Amino acid sequence: MSIVDLARPEIRAMQPYSSARMEASGGAILLNANESSWAPPGDDALDCNRYPDPQPPALIEALAALYGVRPAQVLVGRGSDEAIDLLVRAFCRAGEDAIAIQPPTFGMYAVSARIQNAAVLEIPLADDFSLDVDAVLAALTPAVKLVFVCTPNNPTGQKVTLAQVERLAQALAGRALLVADEAYIEFADTPSVAPLIDRYDNLAVLRTLSKAWALAGARIGALLANEEVIALLRRIIAPYPLPRPCVALALQALSAQGQVQARKHVAIVREQRERMAKALAALPGVRDVLPSQANFLAVRLDDPATVYQRLLAAGIVVRDVRRYPGLGDALRITIGTEGENDRVLAVLQDIYA
Ligand SMILES: *Cc1c(COP(=O)(O)O)cnc(C)c1O
Repeated sequence: MSIVDLARPEIRAMQPYSSARMEASGGAILLNANESSWAPPGDDALDCNRYPDPQPPALIEALAALYGVRPAQVLVGRGSDEAIDLLVRAFCRAGEDAIAIQPPTFGMYAVSARIQNAAVLEIPLADDFSLDVDAVLAALTPAVKLVFVCTPNNPTGQKVTLAQVERLAQALAGRALLVADEAYIEFADTPSVAPLIDRYDNLAVLRTLSKAWALAGARIGALLANEEVIALLRRIIAPYPLPRPCVALALQALSAQGQVQARKHVAIVREQRERMAKALAALPGVRDVLPSQANFLAVRLDDPATVYQRLLAAGIVVRDVRRYPGLGDALRITIGTEGENDRVLAVLQDIYA
């Protein structure tokens, strides 16, 4: 049995759209896609009068090298949000199938499921926000086609261990696709589970250039999975998902020089994360700072509403995560530059002075 046998039959059967860019390669005079023959103002050799490559080979190769997988195991799209949406649409039949998530977690899994009219099975994280593999497995129903695991988890910051991911992948074999969302893995102490996709055909990994790679505005995310899953999703992704200027920015970020810069900034964030965790934990109104492997801290406060408002009055916007289960007293604070972090501490010190 192949993991794509679990996908919606009509998606497996459909004839994908064949774009002009896919049908023809080579040739210097392009009169096949009703494009303009003139570059737009300010184009700067981007060739934006031409449709982009559906899956730009240079970007796919750079991402495959970065993540340690083969190019055929990579799908690149408009942020990992698009990959989440494509997975749900490809695997969940409306009104019949389901996804499983572990709240409190990233909101887009449930949003994509609701758009597709797929049910959302919620299996809460343990009290310390660690993943309870036994609880997940015990709660699963045959309707569940996708199990999302966010590691490090947003908004709590904890990681799922490699051993837990393997146990889940083994237990889900032939039943469901396990999707490990590693949006923040660059900030963690332990490596990605991406190398496991060769061993478990029902494991997929979400990666993004939005966080550690400073490209949230360019919308570049990737799904790493076995070739059949990637091929299936390539059938339903929009014909030209990635704008040429965004691809150019991504290639610069992934160049040798870009990688040096990204690693430098990740190191600063990790250092600042430890500093902020200590400084915040020492303040009288701070109940707890959750241990974080990501580029943010979830902070429990005596009076989160006041702190939120005072920060806002000082021009500092943090995320109010009080609506999440188990986080009724928490704010999520992204780690910024040293100067930005100083400003946060100054406001909090002022409140508790
Ligand atoms: C930010 C975030 C994403 C979305 O990333 P994009 O690539 O920008 O779409 C995915 N998963 C989690 C857990 C996130 O926090």
